Amino acid sequence: MTSIVVGAGVMGLATAWHLAGAGEAVTLLERGPIPNPSAASWDSHRLIRALYPGRPGYTRMALDAYAAWDEVWAAAGVRHYANCGSIAFSRAEGDWADGCRAPLDALGAAYELLPPEELARRFPFLIADGIRWGLFMPEGGVLFADRIVATLIDLCRAAGVTLRPDAPVRAVDAEAGTVTLASGETLQADSVVVTAGAWVGGLFPDLAGRLTPYRQLVVYLDPPAEHAAAWAAAPGIIDCGFPDDHWAIPPVGGTRLKIGVGAWKRQADPEADPAVAAGEAKAFRERYRPVLRDLDEYRILEARPCRYIFTEDSRFVLERRGRAWLVSPCSGHGFKFGALIGRAVADGVLGRREAAELTSWAAGHLPAGHLAAEGVRA
Ligand SMILES: Cc1cc2nc3c(=O)[nH]c(=O)nc-3n(C[C@H](O)[C@H](O)[C@H](O)COP(=O)(O)OP(=O)(O)OC[C@H]3O[C@@H](n4cnc5c(N)ncnc54)[C@H](O)[C@@H]3O)c2cc1C
Repeated sequence: MTSIVVGAGVMGLATAWHLAGAGEAVTLLERGPIPNPSAASWDSHRLIRALYPGRPGYTRMALDAYAAWDEVWAAAGVRHYANCGSIAFSRAEGDWADGCRAPLDALGAAYELLPPEELARRFPFLIADGIRWGLFMPEGGVLFADRIVATLIDLCRAAGVTLRPDAPVRAVDAEAGTVTLASGETLQADSVVVTAGAWVGGLFPDLAGRLTPYRQLVVYLDPPAEHAAAWAAAPGIIDCGFPDDHWAIPPVGGTRLKIGVGAWKRQADPEADPAVAAGEAKAFRERYRPVLRDLDEYRILEARPCRYIFTEDSRFVLERRGRAWLVSPCSGHGFKFGALIGRAVADGVLGRREAAELTSWAAGHLPAGHLAAEGVRA
């Protein structure tokens, strides 16, 4: 059997690796270089956490994601994961962090609520006033995304995947199982998996109402010396309890401190230049004024623009169309599922899982009766 995978981000690479491992002849087409630095998957790190307010399906998937990454580490002989834990801060009843508790309780996953005194001691860089507690999970932390992508490329090569950089796909005929490259070349396969990230709308224009591409920024900082040790020992900070959706990744495993602001994203054509505007990095850092002490002493090292794609409710799209599989699991939280979704899509292509079940699973819907604690890790 033959498969074509369009897009060499984490989803395409993981899918191609699993398909090749099952004996499929796989061709992976990428519009740019492999790896492509403009893919959402290419950055120093991404957070992995099972904190999902009101979404037990994604909590469940995140708990399952660790084992899927373990398969990658075992095959590669290297572990690109810093298990420093994850934390979200609650300021009011019913807020983001508070909403994470019910799914964790339902799934029997372990967590602690750290009181403000302990937060002040462990996180001296934080303005802890107004925080009720911090929800800390020992499992979770940082996935070294660019190292993972590089490793998956190696694994794909070793598994016999044909990697074709600089091969932009112009059109996909889902029923025929053909793809047409910008060069005019046409390829045909038993199945075509489209993992085109923010650019997927160019191949399936009917998705325009369901999937919206955004331009975002992340900023790398050098913390002041007095906070450096606390930052180096910090967990992944998933939510700070303000509407702006502040998150931060500690400088672990040779990486730099990175801050994010969900509310900074703006709708943008993924083909448009995402360049950083003058003064943008400073304005971005300023959003952390209510979060971090001594903010002005954090030196800006780099501001990096990126592109990603969202559904309105942040649920993932994974659906079968004829011989094609449309795989768009992003909404700013897809990386952690890369290994798990790659395996699941391969299982779909190989007929081991039903398309409708995969669609529902990827959208974060738990099968009925699945809220038992059995098999839950963490
Ligand atoms: C700022 C930011 C922070 C994030 N934080 C987290 C986090 O903490 N935790 C988490 O789990 N997730 C996070 N995410 C989301 C995560 O990075 C993405 O969900 C994931 O990387 C998407 O992978 P992908 O393979 O689907 O897409 P991409 O990595 O974007 O890959 C798509 C690939 O397809 C190629 N392509 C596109 N069109 C074509 C074509 N026509 N022909 C050939 N090739 C094509 C592109 O060049 C690209 O290489 C974050 C994303 C961003 C941007």
